[in-house]
Amino acid sequence: MNFQNIPAWHSKKPNVANVYHNNAKCDAGSRIETQQVEQGTGGRPLCRRCKSLNTRMQSERELSLPRLDSPTLR
Ligand SMILES: [Zn+2]
Repeated sequence: MNFQNIPAWHSKKPNVANVYHNNAKCDAGSRIETQQVEQGTGGRPLCRRCKSLNTRMQSERELSLPRLDSPTLR
């Protein structure tokens, strides 16, 4: 398991935070509507919340790993 394999996504919408997300537990990331989801980093910096969640996840890895159920990614 490597959390870096989680696919990154960001919002296609203009005027939103210019960041990408890679943690399913991120509020801002999961709030993006499915239709607005674009895969990849978009050349953007990583969302600060995702970053802290990722850091926390490393120590909680033995617990259930969150899955990218939402938003739905292809
Ligand atoms: Zn995020």
